[in-house]
Amino acid sequence: MAQQYPEWIWQNGAVKPWAEATTHVMSHALHYGSSVFEGIRSYATPDGAAIFRLTDHLTRLFHSAKIYDMALPYTRDQIAAACREVVKKNGLAAAYLRPVAWRGLGGFGLSAETPIDVAVAAWPMGPYLGPEALEQGITACVSSWQRFAPNTIPAGAKAGGNYLSGQLIAREARRLGFGEGIALASTGLLSEGAGENIFLVFDGALHTTPASASILTGITRHSLITLAREDGIEVIERDLPREYLYLADEVFMCGTAAEVTPIREVDGKQVGAGHAGPVTRRIQELYFGLFNGKTHDKWGWLEPV
Ligand code: PMP
Repeated sequence: MAQQYPEWIWQNGAVKPWAEATTHVMSHALHYGSSVFEGIRSYATPDGAAIFRLTDHLTRLFHSAKIYDMALPYTRDQIAAACREVVKKNGLAAAYLRPVAWRGLGGFGLSAETPIDVAVAAWPMGPYLGPEALEQGITACVSSWQRFAPNTIPAGAKAGGNYLSGQLIAREARRLGFGEGIALASTGLLSEGAGENIFLVFDGALHTTPASASILTGITRHSLITLAREDGIEVIERDLPREYLYLADEVFMCGTAAEVTPIREVDGKQVGAGHAGPVTRRIQELYFGLFNGKTHDKWGWLEPV
């Protein structure tokens, strides 16, 4: 089914019809990957539509921009208002929001100080890795493509160019018939999924890869660490060798799009019992509980539209 586009998009200070929110073919970002962006979800909660950790996502957008010396011409509050506006104006509740800032037209050298364009789009989105993924889990493979080393491209910035790596990993996995690809870091140790962080469960404790493993330190990852610890589940950030994927009791991926997706098989080897285990289920319950009112949001993560 073709993507259904919502009617309105915010670009450079104004809401425009979707078809008019365009950029020039000579925009710097199109040629050199010089964009920074966020992926954010809004949920229909019992208290109305809410954007999950909007402020934290936009703080990360500004951090990504800082790394690439991109001075965004709008404040975090202005971009937050734009996010709310596109959700409202398109009549959305459960949606995916995409703020993006990019080097536009006005200079073609690699170090050119071009103007920075900013846009926010939003569209309805269900489970990213397929409708059954959250229940039954997905298969995954370790990619033949490694993540970039920390002294090449900073994984902590959510920049357009980084997603060439993610595309190679995800496309290879799908070509080989797997649901998602998992990458190793340049150290040979586990990094993360193509567009998700990864958690392994051993003896009831959660183990996840650290910032030094060329990961994007995800906001979902942080939310799950917080919820787990609050629930008395131990969480350890540590280097993890590849084979631990095969030996873990449970494995799951997480991210704004992927939410909490169980992994039932890695490289053709069954993970644990071959379906979502009790710790994964509990984490799903706590996470989705934020949006159905069952988990008390004591952190103010749900920001009303
Ligand atoms: N790693 C990568 C490479 C990603 O693209 C994402 C999705 N933004 C994540 C991890 C998860 O990050 P978050 O939980 O902030 O969406």
